[in-house]
Amino acid sequence: MENLNAYDIAVQQFNSAASKLKLDPGLAEVLRHPKRQLTVSIPIRMDDGTVKVFDGFRVQHNVARGPAKGGIRYHPNVTIDEVKALAMWMTWKCATVNIPYGGAKGGIICDPKKMSIGEKERLTRRYASEILPVIGPDRDIPAPDVYTDAQTMAWIMDTYSCMLGYSSLGVVTGKPVELGGTKGRHEATGRGVMYTVEEACRLLNLPLKNLSVAVQGFGNVGHIAAQMLFDKGARIIAVSDSRGGAFNAEGLDPYEALKYKGTDSVTGMPGTSSISNADILELNCDVLIPAALENQITEQNARRVRAKIVAEGANGPTTPAADRILFEKQVLLIPDVLCNAGGVTVSYFEWVQDLQGFFWDEDQVNGQLERIMKRAFKEVSDTAAREKVDRRTAAYMLAVKRVAEATRVRGLFP
Ligand code: NAD
Repeated sequence: MENLNAYDIAVQQFNSAASKLKLDPGLAEVLRHPKRQLTVSIPIRMDDGTVKVFDGFRVQHNVARGPAKGGIRYHPNVTIDEVKALAMWMTWKCATVNIPYGGAKGGIICDPKKMSIGEKERLTRRYASEILPVIGPDRDIPAPDVYTDAQTMAWIMDTYSCMLGYSSLGVVTGKPVELGGTKGRHEATGRGVMYTVEEACRLLNLPLKNLSVAVQGFGNVGHIAAQMLFDKGARIIAVSDSRGGAFNAEGLDPYEALKYKGTDSVTGMPGTSSISNADILELNCDVLIPAALENQITEQNARRVRAKIVAEGANGPTTPAADRILFEKQVLLIPDVLCNAGGVTVSYFEWVQDLQGFFWDEDQVNGQLERIMKRAFKEVSDTAAREKVDRRTAAYMLAVKRVAEATRVRGLFP
């Protein structure tokens, strides 16, 4: 049975790049370990008057190239190993697109769908106060991830600022625009996915017009990527969320799907038939965008993937065994550290704007994002061709080399 522990997978992926790079064993050992792991208990009063205690984490993997950066996830299945893996992936992601950050991630084991807005606010504020010693604009800058959003970031920014006694805009990104957020951040990850799909289609000579696209996970990343590709003429044949999916081989309108979903699900959307989250991965389509959670394409189902391009909107949706199978099948896989790096790239723009107190217009944000995503796509593709490796290994080789070099020149303290 394949090992699906996210941290073990992250280490395997790193080892493969480190051995290709012939990385110094001591340096490799340093980069395999997260720099800092903080576990906190978060007691809050629930609406019914009882007190519940939640477990939360913040992991900083590496800060050699700049402050740690990474999202915060609220989900019942969060584990410390998942957070460690996500933190490590953030280090490589920031280095792949060459922005001056290290990697971090946070999470709370909770089921936000079963919590009131008041309970979520108390949970967020208490978590923020517990991780306060390790975060800050120069230390570690959180952002949204699964089931957290701009409102969550506003509460963290406010809690942090109240403790400091002044407003600190740069402590989190993905904030509302009214509060030092940047234009274009909400769409950034999906927009970045779209740019990388565009580049992959160019390589395969696939026109965007009528390109068939299936999207697993119709959340922030998935729905924006679907809408942007739809606007370019692509045919979105299926979308899904945690409750199931909607399918129409002739294409569906992702704007209508979002309206229909509301706060519930895309399942049952008029003009579509239902499809499971497993079946969506095996659809006959040009582009498959897994944009939900980890370990979706595994040794079990990778042979049945029929897409020409797999664009990893989610973090860690493909296991190492599945990677090998897709590579053999000559599927063009755009790895997560490249494909979904648009979010952290625009987060970087947001932080720069906050620190300077000077805000950009949306065209400037999108133009800089396009430049960075396309440059990174080219660097990864060139490395893959030169080293004769898959694109994930190529992205890791680029990223690990950058981080390793920064770590090496800084030297080992003391
Ligand atoms: P989100 O909470 O907005 O959306 C998640 C979506 O996935 C929801 O529609 C949910 O219903 C669906 N989902 C949950 N479990 C599912 C399952 N088992 N099968 C199918 N669908 C399921 O989250 P998001 O921010 O869009 O994040 C999605 C993925 O993208 C995550 O892996 C996240 O780490 C990654 N990511 C997000 C960003 C960002 O900027 N938001 C940036 C980079 C990477």
